[in-house]
Amino acid sequence: MLEINEIFGPTIQGEGKYVGRPSIFIRFGKCNFKCEGFNVEYETPSGIKKCACDSYFAVDKEFSDTWTKHKSYDGIVNEVDKLISNYNYDYKIDIVITGGEPLLYWNKEEFQKLIKHYIDNSHKVTIETNASLNLNIEHEYQKQIVFSMSVKLSNSLEPLKKRINYETLNKILLNTKESYLKFVIGKDFMTKANVEIKEILKNIPKCDVYLMPMGDTAEAINNNSEDVINMAIKNGFLYCDRLHIRVWDNKRGV
Ligand code: SF4
Repeated sequence: MLEINEIFGPTIQGEGKYVGRPSIFIRFGKCNFKCEGFNVEYETPSGIKKCACDSYFAVDKEFSDTWTKHKSYDGIVNEVDKLISNYNYDYKIDIVITGGEPLLYWNKEEFQKLIKHYIDNSHKVTIETNASLNLNIEHEYQKQIVFSMSVKLSNSLEPLKKRINYETLNKILLNTKESYLKFVIGKDFMTKANVEIKEILKNIPKCDVYLMPMGDTAEAINNNSEDVINMAIKNGFLYCDRLHIRVWDNKRGV
């Protein structure tokens, strides 16, 4: 069963290597983390106040009644086709698989069929992942996937052993060409983040590393961006903005 929190677009990819590219987002429900350190307050449908990451609606199982359950991948393809059919593209729009943590579904046949469908039809497929789960990359189509790996640092409050999986990072970077790392950083965590990122990079093949400013409004992003740009310049990282937040704040489905 594939549990889908939302499918939306066409919109633009707001962050990472392919910022600005027209994309359809398929957001899977469930995550193996909570990232309570990210301090986003929310209320569950049963009225409990909690604190976690800004994708809490795709993470907290209390919201699972709002997720659509698909036995087969083609229900998802139909939804995406409906969104694309409103437009006359003469190119293949990007497909972004996000979550929650979509790699929780990696070993499901229907998940693999979904990915293969879009790769075989010449779409660029990005999987946005925390890259903490074990996986095998065996098939040629899997090597075409772009893994956008948002490896969690200590400010997530997830335990180190759980959040850094060197075997998976190595497998992904050795088997795919365009995969990369990205980190969302705030001013208050910059020095520690720098040390932690460099420790991770010692143990994996060379790859692009993007730093992005923390914040869920344009104002909050502006408050962090100059320091994050300077950190990127000083340390040989790449800076990336978070365009969707600048334009839409944290509004869902755009
Ligand atoms: S890994 Fe990502 S989706 Fe999961 S809890 Fe952390 S920030 Fe949220």
